[in-house]
Amino acid sequence: MIPIKNEKEIELMRISSRITAETFELVWSLIKPGVSTENIDREIDRFIRSKGAKPAFKGLYGFPASACISVNEEVVHGIPSKKRILEEGDIVSVDIGVEYKGYYGDSAFTFPVGEVDEQKRKLMIRTLEALFKGIAMARAGNRVQDISHAIQSYAESFGYGVVRELVGHGIGKALHEEPQVPNFGQPNRGPKLKAGMTLAIEPMINMGVSGVYTLDDGWTVVTQDGLPSAHYEHTVLIQDGKPEILTYNNLAREVFNWPKNNQ
Ligand code: MG
Ligand code: MG
Repeated sequence: MIPIKNEKEIELMRISSRITAETFELVWSLIKPGVSTENIDREIDRFIRSKGAKPAFKGLYGFPASACISVNEEVVHGIPSKKRILEEGDIVSVDIGVEYKGYYGDSAFTFPVGEVDEQKRKLMIRTLEALFKGIAMARAGNRVQDISHAIQSYAESFGYGVVRELVGHGIGKALHEEPQVPNFGQPNRGPKLKAGMTLAIEPMINMGVSGVYTLDDGWTVVTQDGLPSAHYEHTVLIQDGKPEILTYNNLAREVFNWPKNNQ
């Protein structure tokens, strides 16, 4: 069963999602060469707790930190470390979940560190666009794989690899609820979307092959070919018309001047 949220639940998800969105504004102010990923994680933890909320990833399935921070060929689930120092030209994917009064928000954003090369910049912007192609399909009456197909067909039109092993998900009273929301699929397949469902849509797109594997730390997922990967995620509320993006913030414009002058 895919849960349908009532107004009271949606209001709490708006709060947890808004805190998530605000945390990303803080993260962007911290992203620069010379900063360790542990330092960023510490500030994320502090900020979320200052809002009376909890970092949802801490301890989830045993994850040791408050955010997942993944650099370059790391796709997701990177463990923040004081030894991992951001360098000019890196791209860094930050994934944050927030719990407020039992309800969750989940979002991810890949940032450039200083000046990045054109290929990396295009990968980031196109992955962000793939997310919004998926979000555009997230409305009552459509099916889950309409979202999946929109993401996959857009990303693959550039020759990128769509990660198969990790997927988006329902979200609400738990960080991960039904249904799974893959980033690949066929139109008109999968569960039907209804108003009041809340989904985390999250394309993970590789510059090269789609294959990934997990490092010996048991967490960090990296690309098979060592090429970079990007990851964007929003928590959305399904409605009869356009979905409400609960984790929306202005970062796409601040970081990439997107959707204006996007290429
Ligand atoms: Mg996430
Ligand atoms: Mg997620």
